Parts: sequence; C-alpha cells; structure tokens
Amino acid sequence: MRIDIISIFPEYFAPLDVSLIGKARERGILDITLHQLRDWTHDVHRTVDDSPYGGGPGMVMKPEPWGEALDAVAARSPSAPPRLVVPTPSGRPFTQELALELSAEPWLVFACGRYEGIDARVIDEYATRTRVDEVGIGDYVLAGGEVAVLVMVEAIGRLLPGVLGNELSAADDSFAPGAMRNLLEGPVYTKPPEWRGRRVPEILLSGHHGKVARWRRDEALRRTVRNRPDLVTRLDPDTLDKRDREV
Ligand code: SAM
Repeated sequence: MRIDIISIFPEYFAPLDVSLIGKARERGILDITLHQLRDWTHDVHRTVDDSPYGGGPGMVMKPEPWGEALDAVAARSPSAPPRLVVPTPSGRPFTQELALELSAEPWLVFACGRYEGIDARVIDEYATRTRVDEVGIGDYVLAGGEVAVLVMVEAIGRLLPGVLGNELSAADDSFAPGAMRNLLEGPVYTKPPEWRGRRVPEILLSGHHGKVARWRRDEALRRTVRNRPDLVTRLDPDTLDKRDREV
C-alpha cells in the first residue's frame, strides 16, 4: 500500500520509522512519503493560512497550497487517483471497520489540517475527482491532524497482510468483524501463573479450548457492558446465544 502524508510538520511522523509500521516500510509492504505543504507556497514567508471569511478567531488554511500539493501528489498516477483522507473532529468517526476498509485501498493521501482547518473548497474540489473521507478520531479537539493521521496509519497498517506476526491476533481484537464485532476484548494474562498473590483464572490453565473460548466471550461481554454500554445495543441479536444473554 502506498501512503502520502501532507503536513506543515512532517517531522511529527518520526514514529512511523519504528516498530510494526517501520518494519512494514522496510519490507516494502507500506510505502509512506511525507510532504511539506509549504513547498507549494510562493511567498517569502511560505504562508499557508489566512483570516477566516465572516470573521471569528483563528486562521484557516489557504486553498492554493493545498490544491497544488494534492495535484502534484495525485499526478503520480493520473488514471487511478488516491483516496483522500482529511482528519477533522467534525468528520465521521474512525472505527476498526473503516480501518479495514481503508486497508484494502492501494493508495491513500492524508491531508493534515492545522489552525481552524482547511478551506472547505479543497474538499469540495477533490470530491469531484476522487473519494474523499473527512474522518474524526474522537470527540475532542487536537491542535493538528498529524496525531490523528499517526493513529489512522497505525490502525490501517497493522491490518495489511504480513504486518502482524500472527495474522489471527487482529481477528481477536476488540471491534474485529465476526465474533468480536462490537465487543471489547476481555482481560489477558501470561506467565507466571501467580503474581503478588493473584492467580491467573484456572480455566485458562485447563487446556480445554471450548471452555477457554466461552470464558473469553463471557469476559468480553462483561467488559463491554461495563465500559461501553453503547456498544451493547449494537450487538447483532442473531449472534447472541442463551449464555450471552445471561452474562
Ligand atoms: N475548528 C475545528 C473544529 O472545531 O472542528 C478544529 C480545528 S483543530 C484545532 C485543527 C486540526 O486538527 C483539524 O483541522 C484536524 O486536522 C485536526 N484535528 C483536531 N481534532 C481532531 C480529531 N478529533 N480527529 C481528527 N482530526 C482532528
């Protein structure tokens, strides 16, 4: 998968050199290119923002550098334009489902806003040429899109074939499609079997796969009820058995 990221702070993306994503880049699974938005400005101050029409506090990112930057990046393959992802708190929520959908794309471009965001005409313009998603990573406001893009690239990148050591681990994650859809993963344990007087639940040491699977599902349900009751209402009733309903 190819990813281009446009930002006025490309140095924010140093973490993409390490760990799973760094290794995926080394192995050629992920091809990430960072771009400095100011390279598409033409004044001595390399200006990317201006005051908002209609008044109000803050500054807005100017359309001209964004237009030139996006045109230049997309020109690398004019016949197959990239899908454009614009982080914004006012976008649709970033979910595991969307991460999975985006992980199937061959090419993504992320446009990192700053200040009060990017002039809305940029999104309108590119929506006539390609798929554009305005996406929020949570109900809070960050100073810029860079951290949101780090979050999204990591969530998308770990779903690419060959990135995780064990492909099955994504299938058991919270929010994964299938058995865990809209469920949080329950608690996990490793050796030693006892630590500071606290024992690992005996069922996990039993070697009985069926009982372990049932215990994990019970714990996932309990945790979801406790921490995310909003998700419980979204569970597909057809996937719930009698025991699920008792938990
Ligand atoms: N005035 C905007 C609003 O209230 O919707 C917030 C602008 S914010 C200070 C600057 C930039 O940070 C946004 O353009 C966006 O790129 C990014 N950002 C902030 N919070 C975000 C979130 N929850 N999800 C995704 N991007 C976010």
